[in-house]
Amino acid sequence: MSVERPRGTNDYGPEEMARRRAVEAILREAAHRFGFREVSTPTIEHLDLFTTKSGPGIVEELYSFKDKGGRDLALRPEFTASIVRFYLAELRNLPKPIKVYSVGNVFRYEEPQKGRYREFTQFNAEVIGAPALQGDAEVVALAIECLRSVGVRDVHVRIGHIGMLRAFLKLPPEDQGKVVHWLDKRNFPALKAELARLGLASLETPLRQYIELKGGTEVLDKGAKLLSGVGTEGFEYLKALAARLKLYGVEHLTYDLGVVRGLDYYTGMVFEVDSPNLGAEKQVMGGGAYSLAEVFGGDPVPQTGFAFGLDRIVLAAEAEGVKLPVPRLDCYVVPIGEPMQTKALEILQTLRRAGVSADIDLLGRGPSKNLDYANAIRARLAVLVGDAELKKGRVAVKDLDSGKQEELALEALIARAVQRPKA
Ligand code: AMP
Repeated sequence: MSVERPRGTNDYGPEEMARRRAVEAILREAAHRFGFREVSTPTIEHLDLFTTKSGPGIVEELYSFKDKGGRDLALRPEFTASIVRFYLAELRNLPKPIKVYSVGNVFRYEEPQKGRYREFTQFNAEVIGAPALQGDAEVVALAIECLRSVGVRDVHVRIGHIGMLRAFLKLPPEDQGKVVHWLDKRNFPALKAELARLGLASLETPLRQYIELKGGTEVLDKGAKLLSGVGTEGFEYLKALAARLKLYGVEHLTYDLGVVRGLDYYTGMVFEVDSPNLGAEKQVMGGGAYSLAEVFGGDPVPQTGFAFGLDRIVLAAEAEGVKLPVPRLDCYVVPIGEPMQTKALEILQTLRRAGVSADIDLLGRGPSKNLDYANAIRARLAVLVGDAELKKGRVAVKDLDSGKQEELALEALIARAVQRPKA
C-alpha cells in the first residue's frame, strides 16, 4: 500500500486550513455584498461536458475514467461548463440576470510545482443574462473587490479582448483553438508549425507582436493596426468598460492584448490578475466573457465569469504579510490540582454554551505543562481554576498575548472572551 499522497495533491494542517477558510470566508462575503448567491454542482461530470468546447487546453489535462456502468466521466477541471449545464437545465428559470458563485476542488493533470497542483480549490463567480458591458463590469469589479477585501494589494489587473484575435484569425473552430492555445502557452515553435500547416506562416510575426502589447489606450491603437481589417469594435468596447469600471472606483487597469485565455469558449473581454510576488505561477485569477450556452444547445445568452485559485490568493496574502482573521481558541481551562477537575469541567460547559470556544486538558497534565500547551495552540486566555479564587466566586484569567493576569467572575470572563480582537 502506498502511504504517500498522490503527486500534485496537498494536505493542509490546522494553521494553514484556518488561513484558507479565512480567505474563503472573505471571498464569499464579498460575493454576497455584490448580490451573488452560492450554487453547487457535482465534482464528477460527463466527460463530453468538457470535451465539447473547452479546447485542447483543458482536454489534455482531464482526469477521466469509466464508471462501473461504462459511462465516460471526468473530475471537473473548472466550474464554468458545469454552471452552464446547470443554467440550461434549471437556473434559466430564475429571474435574470443570474449571479452565482461556487467554491470547490477542481482537478487537472498538470506538471506540479509551487502554486500549481493537480487538485486545487477555485472560487468561481458568473453573471448570466446581463448585457455584456454591465455584466463584464460587475464581474471585473467583484474580482478586484475580492482582492481588496483579502488585503492583497500588489496586483496587476490586465484586460484584453479575445474576440478581436478570433475575428482576425478567421479559421474553423478547431484550427483557431490550436492557434489560440499555442499563443496562450507562448509555445512559439508549436505556433509556427501550426501556422505553417494552415498556410498562414506570415501571421506569426504580427501575432507575436500583438500579444506583447501592454499598457494604456495607445496599445489598443497599435493592436488595431496589427490586426488590419478587423476594425476597432472590441477595443472601443474595452474603453467603454474601463469608463464604466471607473464608476466602481476601479482605476488601475492595464490593457494587455497578450491575455489569450486558452479555453475555446472565451469570446469577448478577457482578464487576468497577477501577484508579482508569486514567482512562476503568479496568476491568481482569470476570467472573461464567453458563449457556451449555445454550444450546449441553448439560446445564446451573455455570460461572464472568473475563477480565483484559492491556494494562490492565500500565497499572495502571505507574501504580502497580510494578517488574516484566523479564529483562535478563546479559553483554555486549567484546573489547579485534581480536586478542581469537576469545577473546571462545569466552567468549560458554561463557556461553551455561552458561545465561547473553550478547551480543557485531556491528559491530566500539571498547570505549567498546560500553559505551554495553551500557548502552543495559540489560545487567547488561560482560565486557571483554583480553590482560593473560587471561594471568592472568581477564576484567574491569564491573557496569553500580554501575559497579564486578573481575577474575574464567570460572567465577566464570558464578556471578555467574546470580545475578540480583530486580526
Ligand atoms: P483557469 O481556470 O485556468 O483560468 O484558472 C483560474 C485560476 O485558478 C488561476 O488564475 C489560478 O489562480 C488557479 N489555478 C489554475 N491552475 C492551477 C493549478 N494547477 N494549481 C493551483 N491553482 C491553479
